Amino acid sequence: MKVSIRPNPQKLFPSEDGNQQTRQMMLRFIEQILTGVDVLKNPDGVNLKGEKDRTGNFYHNLIQSSEIPTASIPLEEVNAELLKLLHDHPYHTKYFLTNILPMASIPGILGMIAAFMVNGNNLWDVYGPAGAEAEVRVISMMSKLIGYDAMTSGGYTTWGGQGAVFSGLRIAIAKFFPEALQKGIPDNLYAFCSHSAHYSLFKSMEATGIGSDNLIRVRTKADSSMDACDLKHKMEEVIARGGIPIYIVGTTGSTDAMGIDDLEQIYAVSNQVAAQFELRRAHIHADSALGGFFAFFHDYDFTSNPLGFKDEVAEALMAIHSRMRHLHLADSLCFDFQKLGQTPYLTSLFLLKEAADLKLMDLHPDETPYVGHRGYGQYHTGYTLECSRMASSISIYSALLAFGIQGYQQLLAQFVEVNLAFRARLRQEIPQAEIVNEDNPGIITLFRIYPEGTHRFQEEISGGCTSEEIERNNKFNEVLFEMLGKQRDRIFFGDTKKHLMVPTQDKSLMALYASKIFVISPYTEFEHVPEIIQHLKEIVTHVYENYAEASTISRR
Ligand SMILES: *Cc1c(COP(=O)(O)O)cnc(C)c1O
Repeated sequence: MKVSIRPNPQKLFPSEDGNQQTRQMMLRFIEQILTGVDVLKNPDGVNLKGEKDRTGNFYHNLIQSSEIPTASIPLEEVNAELLKLLHDHPYHTKYFLTNILPMASIPGILGMIAAFMVNGNNLWDVYGPAGAEAEVRVISMMSKLIGYDAMTSGGYTTWGGQGAVFSGLRIAIAKFFPEALQKGIPDNLYAFCSHSAHYSLFKSMEATGIGSDNLIRVRTKADSSMDACDLKHKMEEVIARGGIPIYIVGTTGSTDAMGIDDLEQIYAVSNQVAAQFELRRAHIHADSALGGFFAFFHDYDFTSNPLGFKDEVAEALMAIHSRMRHLHLADSLCFDFQKLGQTPYLTSLFLLKEAADLKLMDLHPDETPYVGHRGYGQYHTGYTLECSRMASSISIYSALLAFGIQGYQQLLAQFVEVNLAFRARLRQEIPQAEIVNEDNPGIITLFRIYPEGTHRFQEEISGGCTSEEIERNNKFNEVLFEMLGKQRDRIFFGDTKKHLMVPTQDKSLMALYASKIFVISPYTEFEHVPEIIQHLKEIVTHVYENYAEASTISRR
């Protein structure tokens, strides 16, 4: 006879008393996951092993077949189901070159586990003291790194680089129009960013109700950085029409080309404009989500070069760093630790030069009836858009301690070294390709291929091409995207449909498409470069052969 056992949900929790039995059980389940992933690993490809066909009706079928089980399923079996999710999942082997999608490091993961073991709510230090402590620590650490005064700076962990751009805009609104928080937004507020900026600001303009029409796009130079003269010109234009510039996002490390806006110039221009029109200076947010991590080289002595970087690597690092050294001029900025900080999603840190600005957005005690503003507790983040918050600062803290400044320096230098090697080899082996972000050393190479006998990059950026020509070249590159995409389980390259905006002969602006090599895996090393370029060369050759064939057919 089948004995029915009443389920005991208590068994699904960590112990109350620290007993060894529950700990062993939990370790066994964690080990099952780790072993399960290890079994799936394949260093010769990009994806984990396992069968999974995510095409066709895949998601439709998932919807049809998914049900909550009536009875509890044993954890071994649940784990087996979880591991199935990971089948054929992209994994950060040396061939993972697609975008800013890093691997989570061991200290990053351990930091998360530590946070989960108490599951504190980072909203209030009475509920989440560990998170509050770690948050205050990492804000201080990063403030000191970039040259903010840690005694007056502030910040919080938030929902991505996008959340940081949004937070900066909220503060800008509150600085210019404190009453907007109650009465809504005036219709003459304007924000500025370059054509190479991330779409975060566009979304923030929508979400705050200012409207994306009031986002003014500033021209970029050939190196993808903001043209400060055009910024000045466009700010003056806005003011002449009765608008008020409240927010400027300077992209310090663009996501595609790693263009770096000159914050010193942006700062100077915004001060000039403010003085000239007797306005308050616009809030400047440095969108340093990606590139800010090069601030780890602030105190690196490039002359004695203690970590022994090769000359060309040190030169590249110096070039990046020289454009990153004005970060402290920004009123706010961001470090996406889930990017170059080597922690899991989501661990973005929003930093603010003046913590006092947060008061502009804080809730009145009456509005927070059940938390904060009591006689106890000293840390209540009533100014964040989120209410409950995960203590992701614990993972950041863990990574900062484990890597240390030198660990980050070494890792970033490795990425830069590999990227330089890619560029050298690409020039040598694939002359059909042109590197289109040559001026930005960094960890990203963007390149474009051109049909034989056509205008190339120089003509495109100098306005010498017609829209039709650029469109044809873009289409040609799109064929390469498709071919690279089809073979992404072997080597995973990236691409972008918006590299530079270039003027055409008929005076419109058009975006250039480019393929991307993004060095992001700690396992991609100098010696892997020839093999990867060889693979790329074969695919590029195919694109040209198919193109030649197609044009012969169409000529017939
Ligand atoms: C990645 C990135 C963002 C968006 O960050 P999320 O963490 O994805 O929200 C914004 N700006 C820049 C420059 C970025 O690189």
